[in-house]
Amino acid sequence: MDGSRTVHDPGSVLVTDGVIAAVGPVEDVARHPAAATVPRVDASRHAVIPGLHNAHLHSGLLRGTAESMALWEWLENHVDPAHRALTPEIARAASYMAYTEAVRGGTTSVLDMWRFMEGSAEAASDIGIRATLAPYGADRYDYFESLESNRRLLESHLVAADGRVRTWVGLEHLFYCSPEMFRGAAELAEEFGTGIHTHSSESIWEVEECLRRHRRRPIEEMYQRGILGASTVIAHAVWLDDREVEVLAQTGTAMTHCPCSNMKLSSGAARIGHYRARGVVCALGTDGEKENNNLDMLEEMKFASLLQKVSTLDPTTGDPWDVLDMATRSGARALGLADVTGSLEVGKEADVVTVDLRGVHFVPVLHGADFNVAAHLVFTASSHDVRDVWVSGRRVVADGTVTTVDAADVAAQAQAAAEDLFARRRTLTGRTPSPATDFGKATPV
Ligand SMILES: [Zn+2]
Repeated sequence: MDGSRTVHDPGSVLVTDGVIAAVGPVEDVARHPAAATVPRVDASRHAVIPGLHNAHLHSGLLRGTAESMALWEWLENHVDPAHRALTPEIARAASYMAYTEAVRGGTTSVLDMWRFMEGSAEAASDIGIRATLAPYGADRYDYFESLESNRRLLESHLVAADGRVRTWVGLEHLFYCSPEMFRGAAELAEEFGTGIHTHSSESIWEVEECLRRHRRRPIEEMYQRGILGASTVIAHAVWLDDREVEVLAQTGTAMTHCPCSNMKLSSGAARIGHYRARGVVCALGTDGEKENNNLDMLEEMKFASLLQKVSTLDPTTGDPWDVLDMATRSGARALGLADVTGSLEVGKEADVVTVDLRGVHFVPVLHGADFNVAAHLVFTASSHDVRDVWVSGRRVVADGTVTTVDAADVAAQAQAAAEDLFARRRTLTGRTPSPATDFGKATPV
């Protein structure tokens, strides 16, 4: 994923002190002076790829609940009440689960929007994954993070765990936040020299409501509120008109495509081919466990390709190499990590994944002029085919088993936390205020 579709088949990657020292044909790498001094892992009949970047997810415990509902109804009746019932302990268990699942499936870097994220930082640090933490910030409702709690997380975890854990400024959807909160978020990000993550233009109703309230489309409104720029990542960006696409391109704002979530919530199909052609950095994300229902980035690549094909009625779109780029190189670019990770190139940190191609479902694996592994990775592979994962040269998954934490233990704790969350949600009294309630009504701007 060096931008030139380079394949070394067969190839080797040499890692010293957590950094890629050589990559290339087996014989060339074997001649490197350090090659004789490091332990070897035989990855024959495996694909060796850069670690995947899940550039939009939410830790959470609502998997498989509240299915087949409209986005805003689902937020009002299920997701937002769960936010009200959340505690730091439950939130922490959710992050342990999300990052364990992610890393087991070949994801070495996540951009997580969640709450009480001190626990998320601890989980990422323990598990050994890279995590960019973006608290769910909103000021129109009292069950979210605030600029003050975001500031506290920035003060304690701006950069932690040897640079693997970083804190950004997070904002929920436009209608959860006042214009003042957006301005405050922009100032906070500027003060700490960090990034901003939010959602936008996920559903057509959101665009219509934004036009009604603000007389501008969401991306134009966000531009006015001062949060777009080269350190900002917008999740979804499904319903952008051509002008909004130019605004993202000109400000250097990246977007994260979440095809599975967009299909499941019937949000629509982002025009990824057009965005990329206009120079917008397009990353890939699973969104949360509640709208996916897994954090499998290999599977997400397939959805990304297929959604392009069916929505454009053009089978030449959604090329496997382009989709691989979104999950690796473009993901790293969106997260401001392009110099650190995102490709297997000398000098980058060793975020490396091996995908076992020996299964019957990969037959045939072909080489030379018939090379078909890029297509296998996008259309055939799933997280279950991931064998090994290294983050900064540390082997966090070996032979399909997470080495840093006990995955069974993490699952048991998350199960208990989910039961606790659902019990707490049942005891809530009163209606949970939510933006959907105000749709179409005269509301404060
Ligand atoms: Zn989301």
